Formats: sequence, C-alpha cells, structure tokens
Amino acid sequence: MRTFVHTSHPARVLFGSGTVGDLADEVRRLGGSRVLLLSSPPLAEASARVRDALGALVAAEFDGATMHTPTGVTEAALVVLKEAGADCLVSVGGGSTTGLSKALALRTDLPQVVVPTTYAGSEVTPVLGETRDGHKVTRSSAAILPETVVYDVDFTLSLPLPMSITSGVNAMAHAVEALYSADADPVTDRRTLDAITLIGRALPRLAADPADREARADLLQAAWLAGACLATVGMGLHHKLCHTLGGSFGLPHAETHTVILPHAMAYNAPAAPDAMRRIARALDVPDAPSGVYDLIAALGGPTSLRGLGMPEPELGRAAELAVATPYPNPRELTAQGIEGLLADAWHGRRPR
Ligand code: NAD
Repeated sequence: MRTFVHTSHPARVLFGSGTVGDLADEVRRLGGSRVLLLSSPPLAEASARVRDALGALVAAEFDGATMHTPTGVTEAALVVLKEAGADCLVSVGGGSTTGLSKALALRTDLPQVVVPTTYAGSEVTPVLGETRDGHKVTRSSAAILPETVVYDVDFTLSLPLPMSITSGVNAMAHAVEALYSADADPVTDRRTLDAITLIGRALPRLAADPADREARADLLQAAWLAGACLATVGMGLHHKLCHTLGGSFGLPHAETHTVILPHAMAYNAPAAPDAMRRIARALDVPDAPSGVYDLIAALGGPTSLRGLGMPEPELGRAAELAVATPYPNPRELTAQGIEGLLADAWHGRRPR
C-alpha cells in the first residue's frame, strides 16, 4: 500500500481560446475595480489586447518585468501600484511577468489574475524566486499564489519556436522531478505522465508548424499540469542546478533547463529506475535520459552549457554551490558527481 499526503493549492483556472474576453468578469469576481496591468516590452501587443478586454478597469500599467525578478524592479512597480491605488493585479507574460505579479502580491496581498504566455507553470505555484544583489532567494506563501489563471492559447501563438521548445522542456523538467520526488503521490504521478506525453508529442508538431493551435493547446495544458506538480511536491537536483546557474551565473531560465534536464536525469537514473521506465514509456523511447536529449537535439534546442555562455572554469564553483545545502534527491549528491554532470552538460555530450 502506498501512503501519501497530497496538498492542493486553491486556484481558479480558465482554459481555452479567446478566454481573454472573460478577464473583466474575473477581475470583478475578485472584487477588483482598479487594475495594475503588468507586462514586458516584447509583449506590447498581448498587453494591448488585455488592456482592451479590461477597458475602464485599468488604473495603471507597468511593462518593466525582467528575468529572475530583481527586487529593484519590484520596488519601481510598487510605486506605480500605490500611486494608482490599485486593488487587483493582472499580468500577461511568461514566468518573469508572473514573478513580478507574485512579488507585488507578497508585499500588498492584492489578488492576482495571470495570463501566461509561456509554459513555465509559475502561475499555479505559491513559490517566488527573487534576485537581490545577484543572489536568488526562493520563498513560498499563500499570498504568492495567483487567485485566477486565464489560459488563452491565442497568447502563446507569438512565442518564437526556439523559446517554445525550451519552455516546453522547462515544463517537462517539473514533471520529471515531480515523478521521482519523495513527496510524489498518485495525483502528481498521473499529472506528470500526462504532461510528459503531451509535451513529447506536441513539440515535434510545433516544430513542423509553429502556428499549430492544437499543439500549442496541448503544451499549455501540459504547462498547467506540470506547474501544479511543481507546486505540490519538492524538486531535486535538476531544479537546484538550474536555480544556481540562473541565479549566480546569469544563465537564461528555460534554455538552462533544456541543457541540464537529460544530464540530471542520467545522474538520477540509477536511483530512480521505475520513474525512468515510466518516462521512457510516456515518450515512447527505449531510455529516458538519452530519449529526452535526442528529442531536444532533433528539435534544434540548446544542448550545451558552453553554447549558453557558461565559462568552463566556473563549473567547479557551480557544483560546490549546488551541493552546499542538503536537499532531497533520489541519488546522493557528491561534488565530484555533480562536476562530472556539469562537464557533460558543458560539452553537450549525449547521456549513455
Ligand atoms: P520569460 O517570462 O522571461 O520570457 C522569456 C522571453 O519571452 C521574454 O523576453 C518575454 O517577453 C518573451 N515572451 C514571453 N511570452 C511570449 C509570447 N507569447 N510571445 C512573444 N514573446 C514572449 O521566461 P519564462 O521561461 O516563462 O520565465 C522565466 C522566469 O520564471 C524565471 O525568472 C524563473 O525563475 C521563473 N519561474 C518561476 C517559477 C515558480 O514557480 N516560481 C516557475 C517557472 C519559472
């Protein structure tokens, strides 16, 4: 018999095409009448559609969201929020814009409506990673969790193919680590395997036709399923490494996840054979780590840390940082083992 504890995080989720039309009702449902609209410059068009949908509910806008949620940006947005007397946050964008919304909600307890435009999954987690003085700190609280998520597949059509691939692998990484997490339960298992199957099938379809709406819808649904697992169970080595490489070495989030995932899986495979067997079956490949590597390579995704600009002499320091504080992982972590993993990832070697 399997014993487990499952925690669900309360959130309202709308999923479809054209759901942006429901935004104003969703804001009113939360008691909002003065919205601060959050976005970033590359999403100006998406932000204009949200502004149109919200009409007179928009009290102010802030379009300065950036990667890894620097506290300086949050403080600048907080000034705009207070001057406008905002009572609800609406954000449109990827994990970076969602992160800004969460950082503001943590400081003000305002309700949030999030319109995700990538597959990062942050919109359904109560977790926030903030960067201060080049150091990324993660915290979790109920105030951080967005109240409402409006998934509108139309907002993902503009996501460039390379970013769609890396973001899809980012979602797959949440699912993979949730499957071998010590906290996994039957609900998270089912969600992770559905997410992995959806991503494994949708990415090649998207590479063939980046405007394939059904493939985009499958990826967005997988992002939600994988994000819900990220919210529920503890992550392991893969997320720790990506957190270190992003927070301390400035590497880009989704690309780093894409390079590291096959190597973190290969490292953990001897200690998580059942999870690897189930992932391989979900992807219809003989071996999970090399199957994920081959999928990424076939899609033209990044396969080496060298290609992301990671300096080779820093690999030892990255390994030290990643093992500095103990955390649960299927296989014991050793600095030597992690250095080997990072060397393989730096060169872009295919796991065997
Ligand atoms: P991102 O939000 O930084 O977006 C990447 C780039 O793509 C940006 O330039 C953005 O403007 C652009 N973009 C996004 N959607 C687009 C679209 N539909 N069309 C055109 N351009 C678009 O990247 P991300 O990978 O979504 O998020 C990364 C951040 O999210 C990191 O800071 C990471 O730590 C955080 N994150 C947090 C959690 C959590 O649970 N706390 C989970 C996942 C990611």
